[in-house]
Amino acid sequence: AEQKPILEMKNVVSAYGRIKALKGISLKVYKGEIVTIIGANGAGKSTTLMTMCNVVQAVEGDVFYKGERINNVSSEQLPSMGLCQVPEGRRIFPRLSVLENLDMGAFFRKDKAGIKEDMERVFELFPKLKERRKQSGGTLSGGEQQMLAMGRALMSRPKVLLLDEPSMGLAPLLVQQIFNIIKMINEQGVTVVLVEQNANLALQCAQRGYVLETGSVVMEDDSANLLSNPDIRKAYLGE
Ligand code: ATP
Repeated sequence: AEQKPILEMKNVVSAYGRIKALKGISLKVYKGEIVTIIGANGAGKSTTLMTMCNVVQAVEGDVFYKGERINNVSSEQLPSMGLCQVPEGRRIFPRLSVLENLDMGAFFRKDKAGIKEDMERVFELFPKLKERRKQSGGTLSGGEQQMLAMGRALMSRPKVLLLDEPSMGLAPLLVQQIFNIIKMINEQGVTVVLVEQNANLALQCAQRGYVLETGSVVMEDDSANLLSNPDIRKAYLGE
């Protein structure tokens, strides 16, 4: 029997006012995968991610998570169901300490022991956050804020993590580090959907990729095939 996707979009249309940003997107994400969504500026990558977790409401089509239609579940409720996003621009709480920011990610949980365990795991992945745990979020560097945003999401013990442009604005060395950490998170059992400008790195990190053009999926394939596809190389990998 074919495995059922953990997350699925079927013919999803999303709009900002009268402008259709997504024109009928269908995609599937299976448990344990890293799936990336690549495409040019304005293709609809972020909108796809935001529609997956109802930050943007689909005007047509269906979003399924674990087989359940979630179009009507509020975005605030989804983390407690295991579906958690890290938005673009890493919206952490600048006046709260690193520890308080991390605690916010677990606000709906009552399993104190589990929360403590996850905090340790976050500090193992991001030792810098441990060093700076008493410091307010706003005083962290861009890279550290990205780590904090990811750490906070991990504190919800997600089954599926939606990452929007995790490498944006980071120095090259940090970018590589963030991608390594995404792989480690995935190896710990978290399914990842990754939206990236940096298609090269994203495809090296992910098993499969979807290519978006002006609100539509124009190609989907294993990352290796996309990486070796001459059209993709020319259009998105800077050749
Ligand atoms: P980028 O990499 O530049 O963020 P993207 O592929 O993530 O691009 P989206 O941000 O999803 O693309 O945008 C898709 C389309 O929707 C674009 O035409 C964009 O101008 C439009 N759009 C996005 N956000 C809004 C908004 N808040 N209001 C109006 N239009 C928007």
